[in-house]
Amino acid sequence: MKQWKYLANVVPNSQIPNIGEDLRLVCAISNKYLKPLCSSNETDELLGCKLLYLSKQNNYLMERVKHQELDKQQKLKWEPIDASDNSVVDFPKLDEEDLRNITLGVYQLKLAKSYNKEHQNENGQYDILINKQDSNLLMAKIQSRHVTRKNYKLWIEYDECTVKGWFCQCKSGTRVVGTCAHIAATIWYLGFARYHNLKFDSHYDWSVHLKRCITNRTMFG
Ligand SMILES: [Zn+2]
Repeated sequence: MKQWKYLANVVPNSQIPNIGEDLRLVCAISNKYLKPLCSSNETDELLGCKLLYLSKQNNYLMERVKHQELDKQQKLKWEPIDASDNSVVDFPKLDEEDLRNITLGVYQLKLAKSYNKEHQNENGQYDILINKQDSNLLMAKIQSRHVTRKNYKLWIEYDECTVKGWFCQCKSGTRVVGTCAHIAATIWYLGFARYHNLKFDSHYDWSVHLKRCITNRTMFG
């Protein structure tokens, strides 16, 4: 909007009561007569439809965890994520496209500016411990290395082909439009990294790999 001389300059106090209405008028004129700032293509519209569809879904795995009280189980056998290859051999092998489809990384990292800020103190600074709960459900425990020592549990449901559901106890963990950083990290390691001899280093920012997948996506430039 700064291209308009009136809006590009400091507006006198006397015009404050009218500035909101003036701005709406300028926006309406721009929308009507100027070219769109960006044009969508078919792929963008499909992604938009997917986001809208997901935004109306419930997190059924969260409901299952609460209903079956899976978060209250005692005496679980935890293993570090990079030592549990034998216990999660049935976790599906994923490629970069699968990761993008699950995490909706383009949406998270390119459109939601708060994403990195929200997680910048958590990425790569925690250990992940794994516990297999049944044939298609694993539970993981995130142990933060920060002073606050925040700990979260998360659940991931899967079949032989794909990841079907997830739920994490962190503040972003119930989202079904993409995943929180903890779930993305767990899926990234189990489904992708260990097949490419990439180690889960708790001091390393694992998300650079995911960002690289996203950057390589040509349709988003
Ligand atoms: Zn989380």
